[in-house]
Amino acid sequence: MNEERALEIMDILDKTHPDAHCELNHESPFQLLVATILSAQATDRSVNRVTERLFKKYRTPEDYLQMGQEELEQHIKEIGLYRNKAKNIIAMCHMLVNQYGGQVPGTREELMRLPGVGRKTANVVLSNAFGVPAIAVDTHVFRVSNRIGLVQADDVLKTEQQLQKLLPERCWSKTHHLLIFHGRRICMARKPKCNLCPLTGYCRYYQESVTRRKA
Ligand code: SF4
Repeated sequence: MNEERALEIMDILDKTHPDAHCELNHESPFQLLVATILSAQATDRSVNRVTERLFKKYRTPEDYLQMGQEELEQHIKEIGLYRNKAKNIIAMCHMLVNQYGGQVPGTREELMRLPGVGRKTANVVLSNAFGVPAIAVDTHVFRVSNRIGLVQADDVLKTEQQLQKLLPERCWSKTHHLLIFHGRRICMARKPKCNLCPLTGYCRYYQESVTRRKA
């Protein structure tokens, strides 16, 4: 795989999913941070349902501290792992208020120091809220980029590093959205819809499966 071929693939994905974007509704870096923490092992749709109500009433980290963990749990209990997520969000709000004047910091290192914030969440916030080039690698990005052959990696960090090396910075954030949309709509985990996919001529997984069928 080289940059030219990778850019061709991204161009095809862009034409296939022109609406690819961050599907977590938010109006501020803080809201995106909360929504991204809630989205672990949950669908964006279920998170949006919860945050539509939550964000109307509670806007700042101070609001969440006043509300407290128990009440937050009640607001988010339809989402998986809600107790742990509520605990992390309250601890994160403490840190935002005590160390960052109630603002969300804009570097990966600072974001990753916040409770409940791993590298993927930090990258989502950096790229979508601050416009910093970053590739957040979730399960879709990991699977699809490895299947196509954009990368050959056995973990998410190596996937992120190889994608960054392969693609110019200006493409990083878009690449994240395109690979997620492709993974949700066509290149599903269990049964990828290769018959509907415009990447069969490029895809390593597809080419290997054709070779296997012929053997
Ligand atoms: S050809 Fe199949 S495996 Fe390859 S990207 Fe498309 S859907 Fe996924």
